[in-house]
Amino acid sequence: MNRLVVMKFGGTSVEDATAILRTGKIVAGRLSKGLQPVVVVSAMAKVTDLLISAATTAAAGDRAGALAITERLRIRHRDTAAQLAAASGAQGDGAAVAATHAWMDAQFDSLDEILRGLAAVGELTPRISDMVASYGERISSRMIAEAFAQTGLNAVHVDARQCVVTDAQHGKAVPQDAAIELQLRKQVLPHLAEGRLPVMGGFIGATEQGVTTTLGRGGSDFTAALVGGGIDAGAIEIWTDVNGIMTADPRVCPDALRVKTISFEEAAELAYFGAKVLHPATILPAVRKNIPVFVLNSRNPENGGTRITALAPHCRSPFKSIAVKKRLTIMDVVASRMLMSHGYLKAIFDVFDRHKCPVDMVSTSEVSVSLSLDSNEKLPAVAADLSKLADVKYEGRKALVCMVGENIRGQNGIAARVFQTIRHINVRMISQGASEINMSFMIEEDDADEAVRSLHAEFFSDPDPAIFDVEAARQTVQEQGRAGR
Ligand code: ADP
Ligand code: ASP
Ligand code: MG
Repeated sequence: MNRLVVMKFGGTSVEDATAILRTGKIVAGRLSKGLQPVVVVSAMAKVTDLLISAATTAAAGDRAGALAITERLRIRHRDTAAQLAAASGAQGDGAAVAATHAWMDAQFDSLDEILRGLAAVGELTPRISDMVASYGERISSRMIAEAFAQTGLNAVHVDARQCVVTDAQHGKAVPQDAAIELQLRKQVLPHLAEGRLPVMGGFIGATEQGVTTTLGRGGSDFTAALVGGGIDAGAIEIWTDVNGIMTADPRVCPDALRVKTISFEEAAELAYFGAKVLHPATILPAVRKNIPVFVLNSRNPENGGTRITALAPHCRSPFKSIAVKKRLTIMDVVASRMLMSHGYLKAIFDVFDRHKCPVDMVSTSEVSVSLSLDSNEKLPAVAADLSKLADVKYEGRKALVCMVGENIRGQNGIAARVFQTIRHINVRMISQGASEINMSFMIEEDDADEAVRSLHAEFFSDPDPAIFDVEAARQTVQEQGRAGR
């Protein structure tokens, strides 16, 4: 039996000393079952956001403002380390805390040095942005490795930048699988062979030349899958703050149900189209090696979570889940003449390609093409280039609602039901069939939450108990009934 398991803990699972101690217990539980975990951790909750805002604040010339942000982060990490040491009870002489505080101070000093430089130069390059953002995981992973060791686990810190080799596309670096596998064999497998527990940061990597990179926001999931794929793990566990992949974002739809099992393909669509619970690229390294991925709740570790597997089990409901991607822009490209000759679409897509601007959804008519895009600073330049070919208009604050399910293709009348349910909402673009398991449409961002709730009520009122955690929903209703709500 393959005993290797990658356990990834997200920001909320390591947000403070209490959460980190809970994480340690979950890992100890896996060890006591004879499993061999590799732990991947995110930065503590909100830290990456704060680091990025420190960088932009510094680059805007506000040196004091930037340093005030890192000072608060320094205090938060020092305090957490002290609480972790106190909780383990092993630090009578305070020497261990002093040692931890010493390396933390050195890290924050070097971070402050970068921010001072940034304030002087006034230009934030993607390379510097990655360097600043990397401190969250660099510090959290070392602190957590030490905390685990203090509670008696044989933990050892591994610098993820020595394992996750990437290209130099800062902000969204592309991992180099073969090099990663080689590095994991050198940096991680020997620890496992000696019975140690490797703990490393997610999200961060480095080029062959050793320049720090990041895998994109939410990228710690991706690290977990890369490590899992690279060491041929038997399972990858994504520990987060919800019971698993739900039928909708529970923050938007409180009635959302846990999906007990879902296919790789469905989970990948959901992640790509906005279900933040998993990073979009997570699934690939796991799919290639057929490694099951589990999404689990670190605040409720007994819950069965979601199991992501190669094949979707049969489900009598058409959909498994509804995802929403907000902050999108619709761009309409209208040819001034009837020019739908071959080569026209290519010319349009060449422009997006040149600007490295990904397109989510496309619909075409004889002379016009509508595209949905992530709102970003490149759009004016893209539009300027496109206007050499056609008339271009674009409009932001749009949302893409994406309904995913293996069973859409087998049922008639699904689209009619979807659009009947949201008939009061203006739909701008529709796509079905590009992937047979997803039906998506664009609406105004302000309508998105309401649309999700209406669709959820329509499609999940009679959920298939083989796929959805119907029992939990029933208990909640009973509890609410008892509480008189
Ligand atoms: P982590 O810090 O553990 O990586 P994230 O915040 O990235 O956690 O992802 C977990 C969050 O994803 C949940 O708190 C939830 O609000 C959100 N989410 C969005 N869509 C879904 C969904 N379909 N199922 C579960 N969670 C979802
Ligand atoms: N800390 C990084 C982020 O906030 C990566 C992650 O949490 O997955 O984007
Ligand atoms: Mg995440």
